[in-house]
Amino acid sequence: MRATLMYGAGDVRIETVPDPVLQQPTDAIVRVVRACVCGSDLHPYHSMRGSTQGNPMGHELIGVVEETGSAVTNVKKGDFVIAPFAFSDNTCVFCREGFQTSCVHGGWYGSPKTGGLQAEVARIPLADGSLVVVPDVDPATADEGLLNSLLTLSDVYLTGYHAAHMAQVEAGQIVTVIGDGAVGLSAVLAAKQLGAERIILMGRHAARTDLGREFGATDVVAERGAEGIGKVMDLTGGEGSHAVLEAVGHMPAYEQAYGVVRPGGIISRVGVPQYEDAPVGFGSLFGKNARLAGGPAPVRAYQEAAIAQVLAGEINPGKVFDATLPLEDVAEAYRLMDSRESLKGARRP
Ligand SMILES: [Zn+2]
Repeated sequence: MRATLMYGAGDVRIETVPDPVLQQPTDAIVRVVRACVCGSDLHPYHSMRGSTQGNPMGHELIGVVEETGSAVTNVKKGDFVIAPFAFSDNTCVFCREGFQTSCVHGGWYGSPKTGGLQAEVARIPLADGSLVVVPDVDPATADEGLLNSLLTLSDVYLTGYHAAHMAQVEAGQIVTVIGDGAVGLSAVLAAKQLGAERIILMGRHAARTDLGREFGATDVVAERGAEGIGKVMDLTGGEGSHAVLEAVGHMPAYEQAYGVVRPGGIISRVGVPQYEDAPVGFGSLFGKNARLAGGPAPVRAYQEAAIAQVLAGEINPGKVFDATLPLEDVAEAYRLMDSRESLKGARRP
């Protein structure tokens, strides 16, 4: 089969590799219908040290089950499924508490051992917990918009949703979203779903912030740093935001977050932090009684409700995709996303 491998910063290749096979009775083999490039894939794209052995890439897919191990009971050959971006048994203590990304038996795609999902075929470990069936949809005839929206449930939309969930967004609140990438825009849509009254989107790419307005943003602040903080404070009558959803992961975004959070408010981070140390003292969190939340999104916890919303046409999170390329052009998909010519690229095999 054809699969995506990264050999170093900026070096993504599509190559022929052995087809994945069942390794455990709990595995399933899935033929990929759509996969995509994640913002987090851009971190190794910038910094990976050169290697002679490529690293398999990708952790988001929708696909059709081809084969199941003898212990798999929740999915069967022919099922149309979504794979949440982390695999999990969905039965252990942390899974039952809704934190499947901390599953005691779970793990991550995109390593030589687990393989990547930017490929024609994928092996899914712990298939009973790690695949969710989409009922009554035939991917061969479904329209592109529906497939795109279902693909966002593998990671991006539900990562944005997790940001809002962990910030305990509720009706009537002011929410500030930092970052106008696909996760930030998803966080806007999720905050709207949870009833936020005012949603301030901090971002400066007009095409993206326009989609943010369509998703529910009431205000857009293009300025950054102290100027951006000042704008948000002005918009909130000097009070600040009940919830701040930080979808970037760099220190200036964290600084903006504690700058605009309201006394007693919650900062929820889903941008993977590219820093180890961050201020928590009187001038940042302590003085405002602000709380810090967030982490890798347990998207498995939110699947069933989100699938129902997408199938009912209540949300169209797939609008974050603005480029669809064949798998053979995966290197171009990375380049487009990295150069910010594309918000998020999907691939078809
Ligand atoms: Zn578990």
